Amino acid sequence: MSDIIQLLPDHVANQIAAGEVVQRPASVVKELLENAIDAKATYIKLIIKEAGKTLIQVIDDGVGMSVTDARLSFERHATSKIKSAEDLFQLNTKGFRGEALASIAAIAHVELKTRQEEDEVGTEIKIEGSEVASQEVCVTPKGTSISVKNLFYNIPARRNFLKSNSVELRHIIDEFHRVAMVHPDIKFDLYHNGSEVFSLPGANHRQRIVHIFGGKTNEKLVPIDEETDLVSITGFVCKPEYAKRTRGEQFFFVNNRFIKSAYLNHGVNSAFEGLLKEKTHPSYFIYLTVDPTSIDINIHPTKTEIKFDDEHALYAMLRSTIKHSLGQFNVAPVLDFNRDSSMDTPYEYKSKMAQTPTIEVDRSFNPFKEDRKEGSSSSSANNYTNFKKESVGSWENLYAGLDTSEVSPKSVENDFSSIQFESSEVTGSLFDGDQQASLEHNTTYQLRRKYIITTIKSGMVIIHQNRAHQRVLYEEVLRNITMASAVSQQLLFPLKLSFSKQEILLLKEVREQLENTGFVFGEITDGEVSISGIPTVTTESEVSVLLEKLISDIEQEVPDSGFSLTDLLARSISGSIAVRTGVDLAQEQLQHIVNSLFACTEPTVTPDNKPTFITLTVDDIDKKF
Ligand code: ADP
Ligand code: MG
Repeated sequence: MSDIIQLLPDHVANQIAAGEVVQRPASVVKELLENAIDAKATYIKLIIKEAGKTLIQVIDDGVGMSVTDARLSFERHATSKIKSAEDLFQLNTKGFRGEALASIAAIAHVELKTRQEEDEVGTEIKIEGSEVASQEVCVTPKGTSISVKNLFYNIPARRNFLKSNSVELRHIIDEFHRVAMVHPDIKFDLYHNGSEVFSLPGANHRQRIVHIFGGKTNEKLVPIDEETDLVSITGFVCKPEYAKRTRGEQFFFVNNRFIKSAYLNHGVNSAFEGLLKEKTHPSYFIYLTVDPTSIDINIHPTKTEIKFDDEHALYAMLRSTIKHSLGQFNVAPVLDFNRDSSMDTPYEYKSKMAQTPTIEVDRSFNPFKEDRKEGSSSSSANNYTNFKKESVGSWENLYAGLDTSEVSPKSVENDFSSIQFESSEVTGSLFDGDQQASLEHNTTYQLRRKYIITTIKSGMVIIHQNRAHQRVLYEEVLRNITMASAVSQQLLFPLKLSFSKQEILLLKEVREQLENTGFVFGEITDGEVSISGIPTVTTESEVSVLLEKLISDIEQEVPDSGFSLTDLLARSISGSIAVRTGVDLAQEQLQHIVNSLFACTEPTVTPDNKPTFITLTVDDIDKKF
């Protein structure tokens, strides 16, 4: 048999390598930014058009390249950063594989302009699909500018696979942040479609974090600092009361490289034990420096996992360092009269978790009942009275939006609207002469603060209170967004909520839809959103949580992956404001949920397709006997 093995031509090999290095525009951004840092730049400008699909340009004032190096830099395995295998273990640079530029040049139109300080003129090279199209002498400032245009122009499958601009831009901004956070001394600018998104002056770590995540971040940071033989730990954790519902702001850097580590994240969380509200996550910005020989440095450029020699010791040290800092620095909330109190999340100790004196309380308020025992402890007494008004308001609002005449009997075996609210209060004694009559009408009960049980002709329905309410709110919000028909409640004093720049960008993207749900936005600045009206289905105290969850939902669930943005919004909003399990509901509230659930177009499932209720027929029950 004849020989069949051939060496792949360079451009094919490069395209294959490119598939690994360049997954999306953000990967190009990362590689180019890292090259600029390796070139000792003090100022790096990133220019993006259409989320990097048409242009990614990085301009630096670093050392530049000679004519020969400029040409060589696009060859595979061409690197100035290592000369021998031993160098691999002493790496201080970001790159070392010499793959990035070759890979990028294989799948895009690349233009390079570069000049070293000592040279009078620079070099300009244009490359298309790994082929050098031109190489000329040019006039250019000291440093390097690389433009990457029409990414994946020759791989339509990859190009079509790219997500919407907003998603790709988010990935780019993530990479930009990760790089900027470890090099605070370097000045960074980011422009998208001609407008400035970030302008970060040279600063220290703390200031850099504040510039990126917004002015309010400063007061939230607690510094951490520990130096041992094994590791140096520096950086910041956020005070427990600022823990977020999202994991967005959690950063580990090892030897100035962003990494992800579920194990170390666990270590951080364990240091916060007992200080966090349920389902919230602490923000942190932690910089670890270890001996380069103690980690597996041969990490793939796109991977963010890392192997440590002694992970357990690192875990223990991290945990105790953070615990120490949280104890040492006063972690109690700062008194700040300019801050909106609804942003404050009181931090609780685990043992107090069972109490729900804040938002949850307003749901359980029942005008017909005496104060609940939990509500009478002195610390929560104030909250309790504060929320009284709101809770009634919120339920009245719920009623306002829905006309009970909408209840369509066709979808139910029983006409729920015929049940009278008045008769459903069973207050008389058991031996009351009216007892028989009341019982017949009083067919709706709450079971274990979780289920609503109501009778129908053929038997009974058991409704999951939280899921049912989600369905009801979902349809209402959806209707409001699509018909732009929502009414909003005007706030006496506009709410001012602070968000990071990136979160603000996201909010701006969905602003119109949110306005259709009833939000009225005032000024939106870099770090703050002013809200003067909110949807009638929600209360003022819920708004910050609602928007925070919304942002994380949009971030996590790529809106163009099958679900529309409108649907995502409606699901997120209904998920965050639906009445929770564990909340006592008054008779009217039970009735309201039942009626409006069966008035829904799809009452049987939640927006996430989980069943909202089950039926038990008399036959089913008979069989049990
Ligand atoms: P690596 O960074 O792994 O060495 P790259 O393909 O990213 O590989 O870059 C190849 C080489 O091109 C680098 O080693 C460096 O010498 C040179 N280079 C790339 N970008 C720049 C830049 N912005 N300024 C100066 N030199 C650069
Ligand atoms: Mg590189």
